[in-house]
Amino acid sequence: MLEFNISLIGQRGGNVCGQDHFVMVACEHCRSHYLYNEALKDIYYDADDLSRRFFRIEGINLPPCKGCGSIKWLFSEHPLTDVEVQLGAWGWVLE
Ligand SMILES: [Zn+2]
Repeated sequence: MLEFNISLIGQRGGNVCGQDHFVMVACEHCRSHYLYNEALKDIYYDADDLSRRFFRIEGINLPPCKGCGSIKWLFSEHPLTDVEVQLGAWGWVLE
């Protein structure tokens, strides 16, 4: 279970509502990491620029995966561990 620093995410420009449910997800092909707020359906592409977020809804494709360029990429069924997140660009989002 990952613990997210929601106030820091908000300070850095994340879209937070107070009922947030953040998870870390990975591309099923290349395991690139993404931050996802399940409450608002916002997926964040860039750990250094939280304005790069996209609304994830049924029937509309996200932009291609930033890692492998796959156009119709899906979230991996294998969750990221806290160590994987810590070692990646998104390490700062964890408490
Ligand atoms: Zn990918």
